[in-house]
Amino acid sequence: MNNFGANKLAERVIQAELCSGCGACIDLCPYFRSYRGKTAYLFPCTREEGRCFAYCPKVEVDLDGISRFLFAKPYDGHPLGNWRSIHVARAGTRLKRQPFQSGGTVSALMYFALRSGCIRGAILTGRKGLLPVPQLVTRPAGVWRHSLSKYTAAPTLATLNRAVTAGHEALGVVATPCQATAVAQMRMNPLQKSPFQDPTALVIGLFCTWALDFRKFEAFLAERVPLQDIVKVDIPPPPASVLEVYLPGEKREFPLNEIRPLVPDTCGYCLDMTSEFADVSVGVLEGQPDLNTLIVRTQRGEEIVREAQRQEYLIIEDMPGENREHLEWAAGNKKQRGIRRCMETGRLNGEAGTACLRLTAEVTDRILEN
Ligand SMILES: Cc1cc2nc3c(=O)[nH]c(=O)nc-3n(C[C@H](O)[C@H](O)[C@H](O)COP(=O)(O)OP(=O)(O)OC[C@H]3O[C@@H](n4cnc5c(N)ncnc54)[C@H](O)[C@@H]3O)c2cc1C
Ligand code: SF4
Ligand code: SF4
Repeated sequence: MNNFGANKLAERVIQAELCSGCGACIDLCPYFRSYRGKTAYLFPCTREEGRCFAYCPKVEVDLDGISRFLFAKPYDGHPLGNWRSIHVARAGTRLKRQPFQSGGTVSALMYFALRSGCIRGAILTGRKGLLPVPQLVTRPAGVWRHSLSKYTAAPTLATLNRAVTAGHEALGVVATPCQATAVAQMRMNPLQKSPFQDPTALVIGLFCTWALDFRKFEAFLAERVPLQDIVKVDIPPPPASVLEVYLPGEKREFPLNEIRPLVPDTCGYCLDMTSEFADVSVGVLEGQPDLNTLIVRTQRGEEIVREAQRQEYLIIEDMPGENREHLEWAAGNKKQRGIRRCMETGRLNGEAGTACLRLTAEVTDRILEN
């Protein structure tokens, strides 16, 4: 893998408007900071290699290397990545109904993982007003305060970096696909630090088509609703085509055509809709607002899901074939759009330090032909 330092990261990602604000480069050193949805590079750093660059999911990402590390298989460009099983899921009967985004699968799994000792802390993303605020949660009851989707980029992984520096181990993380890619790169110990221990014990990935620019979204909503009263924001799956804002006793709808201009450019380069590098991935289920789609990808993910189901923290069923086909179609479309954008702008392969992605011609062709 090609690795460089902070100056290159600032030039190739932040100044090039490719930063998704994931937080992976923040709180490793004093140079990078997150402020209201933006990543700032405060002072030049002279190191030629850094974890900041190596963790960033927007530069020199070697999908094949990550796939071989996590799944012992080459990256083959399948729309959903590697998976063991795909389900319809929701929080189980042991849990009181909480305000979940959809079926509560993410919160149920994190609650169970903390309660059973599978993880010793969870990196979750709550909010203050509209601003997403990540936090380390060590008590199971703390999970409920962080449920619900915040549809803007969040510096979640800065909190993971801080937790690791403070000596926390066996962490759970809830991550968007770009964040899950960064976490996978952290787990690969790219700078070969010694001693090294994988800081995670469970990575739950969220599906993501795009996340909004926090500052633009805040400005958009501030003109239309009282921000302090917002209870929940939702983007129901197609054919709805609206963003819903829930206020006490009222729901406001905004057409997605008005919302799309608030999506940052970086999401257009993204190939991953379903968090392919997580242990399990969770999204909504079309036409069923109270249920989730659950993709189980790794052995440790499978073990936690199986045990959560056995102890009635989670309810799962097989996914109907037509739902899976549609999911593959949507994820394949995102892959094709992302790879075309990378190709058009010279960000697929090329000179060391300049590429977003490295992929073989064979896999690139397979994605474009799918
Ligand atoms: C930016 C974004 C875009 C999404 N796009 C899609 C999509 O296109 N298709 C789809 O099927 N699903 C999408 N989702 C996922 C969906 O909104 C639900 O999060 C998912 O279905 C889980 O539902 P749940 O009821 O299990 O979640 P809950 O039990 O309510 O838990 C939600 C979890 O998400 C975490 N979280 C919230 N916001 C963020 C954030 N910004 N960054 C990191 N973690 C966060 C919280 O820590 C919490 O643990 C998106 C989510 C986000 C945050
Ligand atoms: S690691 Fe994340 S926050 Fe840092 S530059 Fe890359 S995308 Fe932006
Ligand atoms: S679309 Fe991709 S880059 Fe944008 S927030 Fe989602 S996972 Fe990150």
